[in-house]
Amino acid sequence: MHPERSTKIVATLGPATSTRDRIRELLDAGVDVVRFNLAFGTHEEHRARYALVRELEEERGEPVGVLMDLQGPKIRIGAFARGRVQLRDGQRFRLDLDAIPGDERRVQLPHPEVFEAVEPGQRLLLRDGRIRLRIEAKREGVLETVVEVGGALADRQGVNVPDVVLPIPALTEKDLRDLGLALDLGADWIGLSFVQRPEDVVEARKMIMGRAAVMAKIEKPAAVERLAEIVQLADGVMIARGDLGVELPPELVPGLQKKIIRCCRDHGRPVVVATQMLDSMVDSPAPTRAEASDVATAVYDGADAVMLSQETAQGRFPVQAVRMMARIIRQVEHDEFYRSYLEAYRAEVEPKAADAITMAAGQVARVMGASVIVTFTTSGFTAQRASRERPDRPILGLVTRLNTARKLTLWWGVHPVLSGDVGNIDDMVAKARDLAQQKGFAEPGQAIVITAGMPFGTPGATNLLRVAWVT
Ligand code: PGA
Ligand code: MN
Repeated sequence: MHPERSTKIVATLGPATSTRDRIRELLDAGVDVVRFNLAFGTHEEHRARYALVRELEEERGEPVGVLMDLQGPKIRIGAFARGRVQLRDGQRFRLDLDAIPGDERRVQLPHPEVFEAVEPGQRLLLRDGRIRLRIEAKREGVLETVVEVGGALADRQGVNVPDVVLPIPALTEKDLRDLGLALDLGADWIGLSFVQRPEDVVEARKMIMGRAAVMAKIEKPAAVERLAEIVQLADGVMIARGDLGVELPPELVPGLQKKIIRCCRDHGRPVVVATQMLDSMVDSPAPTRAEASDVATAVYDGADAVMLSQETAQGRFPVQAVRMMARIIRQVEHDEFYRSYLEAYRAEVEPKAADAITMAAGQVARVMGASVIVTFTTSGFTAQRASRERPDRPILGLVTRLNTARKLTLWWGVHPVLSGDVGNIDDMVAKARDLAQQKGFAEPGQAIVITAGMPFGTPGATNLLRVAWVT
């Protein structure tokens, strides 16, 4: 529990963070949600790491969210006869469907749907945008391109096709296998990569059938164009700045980050700012000033969570990266201007009892100098609406189901704790007081504000606001 910090930390597990001790250190350093990147590693490796996460969760007595991130329809070139080639600016280069190993003049692109969708004049970006090809002509299964920006190109490197909506399903065959694993293990969140249209989210939801929450990754220009619909259909959103900044000019990413965060706050969806946040900590024990500033900006913007990828998956300083992130978050959240930045934008309160009660709870807490808002929440909904308000007190979310607790770990300001059922109001007050004190959210003499629904345990029934004192 970290009552003093509202913005959450997501950290990706990988070869650098596969042992019990390492994962424990990450959790102790402040990780709220662990991410499994299913684009890498074997099912055995993911199973082993998952088992460790759940054992440590039990041992530490605090819920941990698990995000399993599917690779999605990632497009890659085929192989070269000599493993790699050097492309010169201005030369011609052909992409075709022929599996013969490539050379300086051509290589396979084993994705027929790309040939169908693209048109002359459009761009293909390779190696995370470092190499740029312009399509000059298209024939049956052949794209003739000119190299606008050259460089070294190696076997099976990635291709981004920013200019079109590709007629491909949101989930590949590999994704379906990986999704099977993720649901079998019990992931709380499924990450959908390269979402292009709202229907991609609908299609995934049909397959997931409520067994996990769906996080749409915004990394395609087409997804940005239909942002509000996608946000509405998803349970949460990741601003996947790595691919987003390849597919769109990098100078558009900062503004988009703010726009996506606002859209998510409007719709009451948690939003994760991801990729390269502390990138230099992959090989260095300290971040650059620009990276510290980047993490801080996401926190000032009101993101629910900030994410570490390579820094914790493969870096030399995974635990230090988490500690650094936690320090930056704490510093920002204690900054005298933080509230004014956070409140520069307020999502409109909707005519729902949960919104009205939680908004009132924030005000009552301020007037009474209460230290915490204790929210009894069955489905997690009331805690989520409370989080959307961005109150200036922590939200202690008391839940009866482990799944709900795990999911709530991602929401800004919500600290989920498992507690048993309550039978009546006295019982409710006693439980709220005890847990608030026990978890470090209140001291004797301090006021707490409680919200709950009657009858107890009914989802969506929030209708009660109560002030109590810890004795
Ligand atoms: P990835 O997604 O790490 O799965 O590519 C994040 C991003 O693109 O930023
Ligand atoms: Mn990506």
